[in-house]
Amino acid sequence: MHPELAADLGRLPDVLEETRQRALAFLAGLDERPVVPHPEPPAGAGLAEDGGGARAALAEFAERWEPRLSASAGPRYFGFVTGGATPAALAGDWLTSAYDQNSNSSLDPAGQQLERETVGWLRELFGLSATHHGTFVSGATMSNTVGLAVAREWLGERLGVDVAEDGAGALGRVRVLSGSAHSSVAKALSVLGLGRAALRTVPVLPGREAVDVAALERALAEADGPCVVVANAGTVNTVDFDDLRAIAALRERYGFWLHVDAAFGAFAALSPEHAELVAGLDLADSVCVDLHKWLNVPYDSAVQFTRRPDLQARVFRNAAAYLGPLGEHPDLVHLTPENSHRLRALAAWFTLRAYGRSGQREIVERCIAGARALGAEVARTEGLELLAPVRLNVVCFTLTTDPTPERLAALAAGLSDEAFLTPTRYAGRPALRAAFSNWRTTEADVRRTARALARAVRNGTVQAAD
Ligand SMILES: *Cc1c(COP(=O)(O)O)cnc(C)c1O
Repeated sequence: MHPELAADLGRLPDVLEETRQRALAFLAGLDERPVVPHPEPPAGAGLAEDGGGARAALAEFAERWEPRLSASAGPRYFGFVTGGATPAALAGDWLTSAYDQNSNSSLDPAGQQLERETVGWLRELFGLSATHHGTFVSGATMSNTVGLAVAREWLGERLGVDVAEDGAGALGRVRVLSGSAHSSVAKALSVLGLGRAALRTVPVLPGREAVDVAALERALAEADGPCVVVANAGTVNTVDFDDLRAIAALRERYGFWLHVDAAFGAFAALSPEHAELVAGLDLADSVCVDLHKWLNVPYDSAVQFTRRPDLQARVFRNAAAYLGPLGEHPDLVHLTPENSHRLRALAAWFTLRAYGRSGQREIVERCIAGARALGAEVARTEGLELLAPVRLNVVCFTLTTDPTPERLAALAAGLSDEAFLTPTRYAGRPALRAAFSNWRTTEADVRRTARALARAVRNGTVQAAD
């Protein structure tokens, strides 16, 4: 054994203890560090011929890299839709690496058994029936990709062709209809060989991001073959929701595959006041839910549900020996793009076990309350304009005068020590958005963000007048 490996094996307790201390110091400093520091990279370092062991690597990392990291685990990182990691999720994630299981096969079954238990809890959390089978994947993009891969196989079934065998070209032109599809849907269509151009945008309701169901019905009636509909449960700008029940009702007449992108919107199901927004989710043929957003498990984690695990296994089966039926419960190796994968479900298992349904609900309701409070602050801040009502956990707003992307970027940059917001374009207007999905965010963080925002607007106004 290499001497440094042997030495580290001997002092493993010290290595883990120092790692624990580093992690604790980082987390304890989340409130003080700039939320996004925007550093230059450190002076380069070449590959070492002889390393100095784990403790030396820790010390070097702490000096060169750690100060440059953002506080994305903290309470005022409102960019994109970013979750943190609850204490139990962090414990589960650490142990995932310690156990280092390749949880994909019944030849070594505990990992996939644990994943199935966790999927069962998630199904209950989101009010899905047992007709939905679930698998863990690395994020919502991958969940959408897997869901649309199953949809692609379903189109083949409808048209009497075997896509897994003969390729997407055998389908001819495919139509995927959606009102406000997330960018990852186009990416998935590119990956799946259906092409980004397969995505047809259906008109949305006036002043909304939710699809106009009558327009969707017209598009379905005009289509000359079976379609895929991507319904949206939680759009990124204004967290709007398609009417899932009304869309599902069209399926009887037009026979399409209904995929619902509920990456973070699925969590509305946890709040009695908002559960109506996702009524009908169970009617979907496939559902995407991200877990590293609102469940607050570390990257990378999401779940993909479908009613047709048989089609899923047709797409992803991995061995020639399995060309026949895969049985009732195919191993995970036959259900996702990955073969080997870590025991990804463990962090979710821990946080669901530790805090239960009521704990997840408290996080969701506190985030919604925070978004509403910030929305109210924005509405009363001179120079800012709220662009949409705060339906759930995102505040979308702009400058009242001269809202160019450059000025909005300057406004966001003016905050980035205190809070991180990301740019967008909504209804043709450049805007900023603040998404609440971190378990640590409190009312005090909302006040701190609102103060920083008001200050930055005042400074920005002065500059514009100069
Ligand atoms: C975040 C998001 C995605 C993509 O999720 P990743 O985890 O970044 O892959 C897809 N759809 C919606 C609605 C999202 O919010």
